[in-house]
Amino acid sequence: MNSEENGIAVVGGGPAGMALALALHRHGQQAGIFDARARGAGLADQRILALSHGSRQTLEWLGAWEAIESTPIRTIHISQRGGLGRTLIRAEEIGVPALGYVLSAASLIAALDQAVARANIPYHEHSRIEDVRADNPQVSFRVGATLHQSALLAYAEGAIGTQAEANHRDYGQHALIFTATATTPHGGRAWERFTPDGPLALLPLAGNDGRDLAVVYTCDPEQATQLAALDEDTFLARLQAHFGSRLSFAAASPRHVFPLGLRYRKTIVGPRQVWLGNAAQTLHPVAGQGFNLALRDIRDLARSLGDADDPGKSGQLAAYAARRRMDRGSTIGFTDSLVRLFSNDHFLLQHLRGAGLLALDLLPPLRHFVARRMIWGARAW
Ligand SMILES: Cc1cc2nc3c(=O)[nH]c(=O)nc-3n(C[C@H](O)[C@H](O)[C@H](O)COP(=O)(O)OP(=O)(O)OC[C@H]3O[C@@H](n4cnc5c(N)ncnc54)[C@H](O)[C@@H]3O)c2cc1C
Repeated sequence: MNSEENGIAVVGGGPAGMALALALHRHGQQAGIFDARARGAGLADQRILALSHGSRQTLEWLGAWEAIESTPIRTIHISQRGGLGRTLIRAEEIGVPALGYVLSAASLIAALDQAVARANIPYHEHSRIEDVRADNPQVSFRVGATLHQSALLAYAEGAIGTQAEANHRDYGQHALIFTATATTPHGGRAWERFTPDGPLALLPLAGNDGRDLAVVYTCDPEQATQLAALDEDTFLARLQAHFGSRLSFAAASPRHVFPLGLRYRKTIVGPRQVWLGNAAQTLHPVAGQGFNLALRDIRDLARSLGDADDPGKSGQLAAYAARRRMDRGSTIGFTDSLVRLFSNDHFLLQHLRGAGLLALDLLPPLRHFVARRMIWGARAW
């Protein structure tokens, strides 16, 4: 069997893996990416992401932002169906040019891939990592017939391995992802509407004279399958009834279904190993936090490994996990609470939610706090 030495090996060339390799490169550490699929396979990803202003700053630092096509979110309208209370958060009151940016996962992946190529970071496609052994002073793994060794293995493989390593919660919800065209321009407004079936998020997109919106429509799995199969006119009527009268819809694209749930690793570091992105935690998209949290983790990890002689040292990895505990825990908790508090039609909870939304509307400091929390994570505290 052949044998190869690597600095830091990154498992997975999705958005998290490529962003990590770039961040390590910026801090002077050598990293190589191994992905099981062909390079560019991720360009077929249909997801539309909302990234925060803080994530934009990180992607600028990584040299990927300029190539990304994005639409700024100027205001977010939050409401609940069938209940009182609504609030409006505006970018100018937080002092940022935009509350967030809407972009396709494909455009993010393409921009990161170009930056990886410019930085001459090795990208091994068709390279599934197997047989990992964490033996000090190196971690070894096999790719095909070649045995590799590296100081640190960073998992960004997009999924959490075994049940035993993770906590999980099934919300009984799937997401329908599609583009809807409204009859009037969105003016940079995003909508978050809570319904008993699950949240409905509409994100502004460029195109069609500013009338296109990326929609994440959450409902139970059976309903998702039925809605995905409806013809456009029947589906549009269902969407209109579900959203209400604040916007009128003229068209909807075909729908893609994603199963949703919460899964998070009990620990994000191990002997000469670290887990990032969806390999560390897979969140419900209600608050659009998954990749935003991944970028905050990546930035911290890369900074801490910048001048390390041995990037796999256990004390260093443990310190990283401890520093990230608060932001990670509160982001998971915030997302989980939103789904559970808002996805039901309990009479008392409906009134409490209405009171909460009203309080957000009447109390600017509270509103600013929530917005800053979404933009910068625990740094907002
Ligand atoms: C409907 C929906 C909406 C979302 N909206 C938002 C949002 O608005 N904002 C936000 O921040 N986040 C959002 N997210 C989350 C975001 O999409 C994820 O955080 C992000 O895509 C995860 O990227 P990743 O690189 O961790 O994983 P992936 O993109 O899954 O990449 C993993 C890569 O690892 C490779 N791989 C797997 N196993 C191996 C192996 N053994 N060896 C080698 N390679 C391997 C795969 O081929 C793949 O290329 C949303 C998610 C969903 C489902």
